[in-house]
Amino acid sequence: MATLVVVGSQWGDEGKGKIVDILTEDAGLVARYQGGHNAGHTVVIGDSEFVLHLIPSGILHPKKRCIIGNGVVIDPAALIEEVGGIEKRNIDLNGRFHISQNAHLIMPYHLALEKGSESALGDGKIGTTCRGIGPAYTDKMARLGLRVADLLHPEFFDQKLRANLQHYNTVIRALYQQEPLRAEPILEAFARYTERMRPWIADTSLLVDEAMTRGENILCEGAQGTLLDIDHGTYPFVTSSSATAGGACTGLGFGPGRVDHVLGVVKAYTTRVGSGPFPSEVHGELDEKFRSIGKEFGASTGRARRCGWFDAVVVRYAVRLNGLKSAALTKLDVLDTFDPIPICTGYRYRGKLLSAFPTDLSVLEACKPVYEEAPGWKTSTIGLTDFDALPQEAQDYVRRLEDLIQTPFSLISTGPARAQTIRVSDPYR
Ligand code: GDP
Repeated sequence: MATLVVVGSQWGDEGKGKIVDILTEDAGLVARYQGGHNAGHTVVIGDSEFVLHLIPSGILHPKKRCIIGNGVVIDPAALIEEVGGIEKRNIDLNGRFHISQNAHLIMPYHLALEKGSESALGDGKIGTTCRGIGPAYTDKMARLGLRVADLLHPEFFDQKLRANLQHYNTVIRALYQQEPLRAEPILEAFARYTERMRPWIADTSLLVDEAMTRGENILCEGAQGTLLDIDHGTYPFVTSSSATAGGACTGLGFGPGRVDHVLGVVKAYTTRVGSGPFPSEVHGELDEKFRSIGKEFGASTGRARRCGWFDAVVVRYAVRLNGLKSAALTKLDVLDTFDPIPICTGYRYRGKLLSAFPTDLSVLEACKPVYEEAPGWKTSTIGLTDFDALPQEAQDYVRRLEDLIQTPFSLISTGPARAQTIRVSDPYR
């Protein structure tokens, strides 16, 4: 048995959905540990495409147990809608889907606050998805938040909601010139949500512990990516939770000594959504080419992603922060028609060569990428399942990346479908 943590090793959208889906085959329990419904995993099974925002994609495997941990913030309406979408496809969640009683709730005032704050920031906006996730985490840290367990105590919920509304309506009115929110419709809606959510609510830390004790493989799934981590990412252009591997322990409720393997998902090139520095970004035709071949549009928002070459500085940083034991390389096939293929090996900053990722944003903004060029392979690798079947240039590219990040690839993905994967080693072993 092993506990495996899967993290995005760039700016998110690395293709974690597919990798998690594959790794779920051998897991007894899949648990999501941070973020909210701003994440978007696209999973292709047969002819069907599923986009999941909040629920671990493990739910698509019949019989696997899935958990949304305390580190996640939950918008009940979004959660219920997602469950509805899954059930519509005749997938039964009964008894195998659990949400932490300690997870914080995203409330309607969080949405209003985030929309107001993003529009007030104008050009300096963070580029968030405006789903209330940041303000919900703010309330969690300010100890003002409402948690899933509070739904089960209507009187307390009522009081706390009214107190929070009194405070936030002042902000909403005075700072953002929006209509104040009324308590009654919120209370009515949340009473309905509670009835739907009641069977799912549990002490999920205990459930994880029991599964570990039973000797099951546990798969802990992070959302977003390392460079979007609240502490270690390109602050302030980050998400509001701990997307790095450490977040799995706090976001699910178990100790670091119980993690056996941290696997980083790494795209064969780089993308990022929203604002902020991106040293290996490309523009114009190349950017368009990446976007159209790699389908680089947000699964949750449809936003076009910014694209660029593989950045070894970024991924080395992710190796260090997460303690990666192995990585899964995704979307290798997207590079099939590119030639040559530059790889960013370091940054030049004021004449100096940097090999470590600078966490000072003003330094990062002034960094120029240093490239080496790999030859393209100009032939299709789509669907290949054997490393030796890859063209020599593709094999060399993969080996060079491993060398630059000092981490082996346990999986190499050559297409969106489960079967389109080179399985090099088993991360559960
Ligand atoms: P995630 O949030 O990290 O799971 O990333 P997304 O789901 O937003 O983006 C991944 C997209 O790439 C999805 O549409 C996947 O089906 C697709 N995908 C995943 N792996 C591969 C791959 O190896 N090759 C290609 N061409 N597409 C892939």
